Amino acid sequence: MIFDANQLPSGTRLECDVCIIGGGVAGIVLALTLSRNSALKIVIAEGGGFDSDPFSTALYTGEADPADYPAMHKSRLRYLGGSSNHWGGWTLPLRASDFAPREFLPRSGWPITRESLARYDAEASRWLQLNGDTHDTAFWLNHSDDFQPLHAPDMVTDIYRLSPPTRFGEAYRQQLKDAENIYLMLHANAVDLVAHENARAARQLVCMNQTSRRFEIAASQYVLAAGGIENPRLMLNFRSFHRDGLGNEHGNVGRYFSDHVGFRFSQAVIDGYAGRRPLYDPVVGFTDRREGAHRLVGGMSFSDAYSNANGLRNTGFLFQFRGPLDESGLAELPQSMAGNAGNDPGLVDVFMGVEQAPNRDSRVSLVRDKDLLGMNKAELDFRLDKSDAEAVNASADHFARVFSASGLGRVKLEQGFWPPKAPEYGSHHMGTTRMSLDPRDGVVDPDCRVHGVDNVFVAGSSVFPTYGYAQPTWTIVCLALRLAETLGGDVS
Ligand SMILES: Cc1cc2nc3c(=O)[nH]c(=O)nc-3n(C[C@H](O)[C@H](O)[C@H](O)COP(=O)(O)OP(=O)(O)OC[C@H]3O[C@@H](n4cnc5c(N)ncnc54)[C@H](O)[C@@H]3O)c2cc1C
Repeated sequence: MIFDANQLPSGTRLECDVCIIGGGVAGIVLALTLSRNSALKIVIAEGGGFDSDPFSTALYTGEADPADYPAMHKSRLRYLGGSSNHWGGWTLPLRASDFAPREFLPRSGWPITRESLARYDAEASRWLQLNGDTHDTAFWLNHSDDFQPLHAPDMVTDIYRLSPPTRFGEAYRQQLKDAENIYLMLHANAVDLVAHENARAARQLVCMNQTSRRFEIAASQYVLAAGGIENPRLMLNFRSFHRDGLGNEHGNVGRYFSDHVGFRFSQAVIDGYAGRRPLYDPVVGFTDRREGAHRLVGGMSFSDAYSNANGLRNTGFLFQFRGPLDESGLAELPQSMAGNAGNDPGLVDVFMGVEQAPNRDSRVSLVRDKDLLGMNKAELDFRLDKSDAEAVNASADHFARVFSASGLGRVKLEQGFWPPKAPEYGSHHMGTTRMSLDPRDGVVDPDCRVHGVDNVFVAGSSVFPTYGYAQPTWTIVCLALRLAETLGGDVS
């Protein structure tokens, strides 16, 4: 059922079993999965309405550094469906090695495994409206004779599956409306989560609508599902648990912020150009997607064995096909690229995304300035350090070496590609309420429960302790399904 909190009388009090803050990807998947258990009553407090509006957008404003980072109110959307209202639909699971601690990457690893999330793959595919249940490379390469992958001994092919892309607010609106045990409150902005006296549990959520009328939601369990910047912002603002904010006894809330930075770092001449294009070129991938065909884009990455042997971070490579090369085209290229061209050569741009090291100084924090509802605004300081630059250089060198040595084509490394002139920030806000076994190292435990607080959980990519290069939404959906089970939902 859907209600508009702008119509609620002041002082209204709602009671439920689970209260979810945020009706984006994580909040919607969680609520609808929980609703299969008819014994549960669920309230979603969603700050926005069905569409973007100036009031809600203003609540998302805040300063970001570096200067070329997307403005905070542009890199996310505050209305039903959240940032899925403008996401690109790329999906890929994190790989098993993203979850493992690696000696050469300080603070890496999750306290859970990729295998523990794999049981949600089929269900996640349905939520994301994807064809098939799996990202398994062998499965998809067998699926079509059109695909001619680039085989290199130390590299593997990644299969990115493209969601339509699912706009969660639109796609699941009717289901939210029909669910008799869901109370979706639009224009319900969470402004305070009030602790019980012992600060070990939350007692009630205070919300404000767009006319500053306050109302309360009392629940047995609370879930923050407000996105990777807003989750920590809310926790830092919720001070009845601790003077420095909910879950912030060890000063970790808001820290370890990361995003995926992608950029072009080289060009390559590859042979067998036309045949490879249907698998690798996003343009072809998107065309196929509109036609309802494969909905796939291929990428490459180093094998785990190669990465571990060479101390390389997990790195994804994507290709953009520029065109076939005839004799005159080849003549314009340096000999190192054009020489020994084989059958059907073509030019491709090569892009990479390297995982960032978890960095305590890269963070979301509060500033004095307040928003329209009186909450301290957030400031984002996204930092990449020297080790990140070195990791990028190492991955580029190894790519050129492995690619050329395997006879796939010839690579030209561009000079001075880092820092990139035109970085593409993914707006994948991760890490700010990281998952850890030890409360001193993070904010939530392996069940996504805030350390030291019995009934408050966090959903979304803010819990990622290590980030990989895969887009986050696939993992967000798997984690939301897992959290639904923890809270009494039925995923089967
Ligand atoms: C341009 C762009 C392209 C992207 N492309 C991809 C892609 O191709 N693949 C991919 O995996 N990811 C992509 N992403 C990221 C993806 O959109 C996010 O990972 C995903 O939306 C996060 O889901 P979420 O539920 O955690 O947060 P959101 O979707 O951001 O939802 C948060 C919800 O909380 C609500 N909210 C916030 N504060 C409050 C409050 N105080 N009270 C009540 N409600 C509140 C918001 O209104 C919103 O509905 C992209 C993002 C952008 C910006």
